[in-house]
Amino acid sequence: PTPSLETPLLRFLKETHARFGPLDEGEVASYIPELGKADPDHFGIAVATTDGHVYETGDTGVPFTIQSISKAIVYALALDTLGAEHVEATIGVEPSGEAFNSIRLRADNKPFNAMVNAGAIACCGLISEATGEAAFEMIRAALGAFAGRTLDVDDAVFQSERATGDRNRAIAYLLRTYGGVRGDVDLILDTYFRQCSILVTARDLAVMGATFANHGVNPVTGQVVASNYAVARTLAVMSSSGMYDFAGEWIYRVGLPAKSGVGGGIVAALPSQLGLGIFSPRLDAHGNSVRGIRTCAAMSESFDLHMLSRR
Ligand code: GLU
Repeated sequence: PTPSLETPLLRFLKETHARFGPLDEGEVASYIPELGKADPDHFGIAVATTDGHVYETGDTGVPFTIQSISKAIVYALALDTLGAEHVEATIGVEPSGEAFNSIRLRADNKPFNAMVNAGAIACCGLISEATGEAAFEMIRAALGAFAGRTLDVDDAVFQSERATGDRNRAIAYLLRTYGGVRGDVDLILDTYFRQCSILVTARDLAVMGATFANHGVNPVTGQVVASNYAVARTLAVMSSSGMYDFAGEWIYRVGLPAKSGVGGGIVAALPSQLGLGIFSPRLDAHGNSVRGIRTCAAMSESFDLHMLSRR
């Protein structure tokens, strides 16, 4: 790239990449054995604006599994395709105050929200119930539409998660006893594990974030991929529950609806402005990317991105 074409934003991204690159705190997730093979040094930062420009630096083309970030898009998909009333009757919108993989449900036996495993599995269950075996391809297409390209699955991660996913299996069976999922639990879990194993890049996450920020229209492809209703409600749940049990601290400090995944990705969106996509696999004790958190916090501060402080 010609230095004279470098915008202040791109310059900032490069400086931030250089600043946090040396940070080697945190550990790559290994509870899904295959995830433990990730290169801990990978670090990519991408920003996509709602007018369709993408700025990126570092390892923004390296694929990794989307993991929990998929939950946000699948929730939006469910709201749009199954009807908000139906989805909202099955899955709550309260922060759980517990770990993402907690087996605890609300007092009325509903999952707390769609960003924790119980809610995401219930969401997958609703889509499976409505579409049967077509559920996974529908989910893959939705994630692809948000990213603006066709997305593949990491089969090794899928197999690894399926082989070790007893906790999620327990959650799904518990849900079924209360009608929170109905039908074939194995099929629902396979769909969920596959959904988590979809491969994305930091650039994809930025475009996904920009699609959220752009009220459901992918600003790169121009495709309408979700309704404004589904996007706004999904961003609301991301604001209160998107960053594991760091969500309160995150919205206070950084002030952006966001979702992270144990693959090391973070997606964040500033409505009507931009999407942010970060990839760095070393995680803190909450399960959030260490360099990802630092990068988003620095960007929020430098560009005044906190959504509640904008004039
Ligand atoms: N597939 C992972 C699980 O269910 C997703 C976890 C995450 O990214 O938070 O354990």
